[in-house]
Amino acid sequence: MNDAVLSPPPPGTQGGPKVLLEVFGCQMNKLDGELVAGALRKAGYDFTDRDEEADAVLMVTCSIRDQAEHRVHSHLGELAVLKRSRPELAVGVLGCMASREGSALLQRWPALDFVAGTRDFPKVASLLDEVRADRVRLVAVDGDPRVSEERDLAVRPHRARAFLTVMRGCDKRCTYCVVPRTRGFEVSRPMHEILDEAKRLVDDGVTEITLLGQTVNAWGRAFGSSLGDLFHEFERLDGLRRVRFTTSHPEEMDERLVAAMAACRKAGLFLHLPPQSGSDAVLRRMARGYTAARYREIVQQLREAIPFVQLGADIIVGFPGESEDDFELTYQLMEDVRFSQAFVFRYSPRPGTPAFGALVDDVPDDVKRARLATLLDLQARLASERHASMHGEVHEVLVEGTSRRDSRRMFGRNLAFDRIVFPGDPSLVDEYVHVRLGESTALTLAGELVADPAFAG
Ligand code: SF4
Repeated sequence: MNDAVLSPPPPGTQGGPKVLLEVFGCQMNKLDGELVAGALRKAGYDFTDRDEEADAVLMVTCSIRDQAEHRVHSHLGELAVLKRSRPELAVGVLGCMASREGSALLQRWPALDFVAGTRDFPKVASLLDEVRADRVRLVAVDGDPRVSEERDLAVRPHRARAFLTVMRGCDKRCTYCVVPRTRGFEVSRPMHEILDEAKRLVDDGVTEITLLGQTVNAWGRAFGSSLGDLFHEFERLDGLRRVRFTTSHPEEMDERLVAAMAACRKAGLFLHLPPQSGSDAVLRRMARGYTAARYREIVQQLREAIPFVQLGADIIVGFPGESEDDFELTYQLMEDVRFSQAFVFRYSPRPGTPAFGALVDDVPDDVKRARLATLLDLQARLASERHASMHGEVHEVLVEGTSRRDSRRMFGRNLAFDRIVFPGDPSLVDEYVHVRLGESTALTLAGELVADPAFAG
């Protein structure tokens, strides 16, 4: 879920200074990138995808893993070299790394002009103006938690799909996680604001909305609402066909949400519900707030209420103190639950997390690697079995783009968030088609277009 990505910049049309805007990290960062792009466009900036013609390079950053931060540091190294020949180039780091490191980043990188934290996006255009006009170096990391979500529809990257932030921050304190430090306490947006934005998106051609929040299923708790209430509202929104949401915390699953998912036909049949571990001892040290038995119970309740729901997992291997027995319990949980998707990570200590300095990183790296490989093998086997069992089924797919491996094939997703590949052409992007599944692998579900599902056989 946290692969580094480069956002496609919106085209430059205003004749203003050009910004190269890069986005690393999760869906939340992608949407933050859109919000920043909208604010910059409003302030008269244009965009480019080339360092050489950029007047400013801004990076929306991710702190969740070492690797994500390394990419930003190595890019800052390249920009430092570029700035020797182009000293007027402005460079800014935005988002999680800025919130976590603040002025320390400026000290480390003399080529960096400003940092703006996750709650300071609305200021980015004025910070950039100031940096370019006065050649000053600036730090903004103390913004309002009720960050404005005002968005510019002109910079949306996809016609039919959009992210929509329903809450920011997190009140949990999982000991491996830096998010509460970088994104602050949980703040839910009011329902009317979310529905207004959803309506604007639908009027602009969006048919699939993904609701975003760090613990998205805790939305509305502060004012007695449940995410399920939002699903019922979306059900009445003409033109909208699908609603997804991510990421959920197991302990925040409530009955109203489960009932709404079961009742609302637009609700996606996929729930990203990270267990992180199958061992109670490890879960305790992670401060996740549930046991493995409780997790299994939640899964059972979900599957009883919503028979076709698919589940996604995040798993950390090699957390401090994880024994072979602990690992075996995680393996067993994965095998029993049979997730449709699983992201497995090796634990690495992150500065700014409760575990850093408090828990000894005592699982050797070769053991972490071996456990990671074992779980990836398991997931590949489970995926192959599931994909084989789906042979012949017809699925409605929202087409997202052209396959990177084969330009004659397109890909899209069904309601259960499975990625499905099929022969087609780019004219199908953003359309809903029906695909009959054929020969598939562990990694890819593949099929053929079906003209009319009523005659699909
Ligand atoms: S629930 Fe835990 S892992 Fe998720 S964002 Fe909050 S602290 Fe991080």
